[in-house]
Amino acid sequence: MKEVDVLIIGAGPAGAVSAAKLVQDGFRVKVIEKLTFPRFVIGESLLPKCNEILENANMLESIQKAKFQLKGGAVFQNEDEYVALDFSKNLGEKWGTSFQVKREEFDKLLLEDAINKGADVSFNVSVVDYDPDKNIITTEDIHGNIEQYKAKKVLDASGYGRVLPKLLDLEMDSSLALRRATFARVDKDERPADETNGYIVIDVIGDNDAWVWNIPFSDGSTSVGIVCTEEYFASFELSDEAFWEKIIFENENTAKRYANSKRIVDVGSISGYSSAVKKLYGDNYILTGNASEFLDPVFSSGVTLALESGAKAAELVSRELKGETIDYAKEYEAYMMRGINVFRDYVNAWYDGSLQTVLFSTKKNEEIVRKIISILSGYVWNQSNSFVASSAYALEKTYEAVRS
Ligand SMILES: Cc1cc2nc3c(=O)[nH]c(=O)nc-3n(C[C@H](O)[C@H](O)[C@H](O)COP(=O)(O)OP(=O)(O)OC[C@H]3O[C@@H](n4cnc5c(N)ncnc54)[C@H](O)[C@@H]3O)c2cc1C
Repeated sequence: MKEVDVLIIGAGPAGAVSAAKLVQDGFRVKVIEKLTFPRFVIGESLLPKCNEILENANMLESIQKAKFQLKGGAVFQNEDEYVALDFSKNLGEKWGTSFQVKREEFDKLLLEDAINKGADVSFNVSVVDYDPDKNIITTEDIHGNIEQYKAKKVLDASGYGRVLPKLLDLEMDSSLALRRATFARVDKDERPADETNGYIVIDVIGDNDAWVWNIPFSDGSTSVGIVCTEEYFASFELSDEAFWEKIIFENENTAKRYANSKRIVDVGSISGYSSAVKKLYGDNYILTGNASEFLDPVFSSGVTLALESGAKAAELVSRELKGETIDYAKEYEAYMMRGINVFRDYVNAWYDGSLQTVLFSTKKNEEIVRKIISILSGYVWNQSNSFVASSAYALEKTYEAVRS
């Protein structure tokens, strides 16, 4: 049996940032990754908070050098209404921009950075079993070879694999409705000619029946995905591809944007991705990123939460392994849930339509817009923002005020 300080399951953003931080603190880190990189994963629009987390982990430089599309903000629109939120007009947060990234490239760069810093990564190897009392992890490679590791701490960063939630019966239904995303990439779309050129554009379809993400990349291609409930999708009785084409080419804004574009990949889909867990940690393990709770794609919160949880878990484990007693309930679970719950309030308000009313209203003052921009930039732990401190209440009051 091999011994390591920390074993990390999965090498996505959560796994890479925690590995990089822990090796920089001098620990022996083993990362077990089921696939080889580069590998595709959905989730291509980042928030400014990501820059801050990567900067603190000494990992921002390689991302900045890679010339990803700069993302200055977000546009929300339907066929009659429009609002552009410039992320630099926040409450004074350090980062006012981020990037649109092909995840196969972004995740590979992060992982290479972690490896260069000293992380030991095995590819094509899956974690197949875990004994939480002895902290023994069993892995299996693609040829069926079995190995065991004993670690002082295990971080689950297995994303959609949700390894420990499944093995330890920690899975819980999400509070959110079952939704699906139907997506593709296109080449040569007609992008906005103004400063919103690199923004993510969110198109509301029909009476809030669905929404479309438009995420432009620096190579001229764009990611285009439709999010709706399973019932809405089923009501069309169409294949993924026919559904994607129908929604995109029947909506005025997207039809115009993609009129002369060419789809360059098959239409894919993912469903039932919202998930929750009974707890975020045990005596010997911590759940991070999508292996913990995943809400919804609408505000591009996934990678931010993955990076923040990976970084926070690494910081706490590092302190514990150096001899400190860590209160994981307070310092990890309560901390992460504070940020997740702010996003949850925004996701709920998006789907009940009240957030669209607030976003499209011209009645709100500049201070309120700045507070909302800070949240949508990923600064969901900034307690000096009153819209963070009481997110549902603040949104409801703003909704009532702009509606009257
Ligand atoms: C439709 C949709 C759109 C989204 N859009 C966005 C967006 O625009 N912006 C955004 O920030 N987020 C978005 N997300 C969320 C984003 O996809 C995730 O939050 C993010 O990828 C989570 O990162 P992670 O590091 O937790 O996991 P992942 O990136 O999923 O990485 C987990 C890794 O673990 C490995 N693994 C799995 N099982 C095992 C095993 N048994 N053993 C070893 N390794 C294993 C996998 O191969 C993978 O490489 C979106 C999600 C959905 C569903």
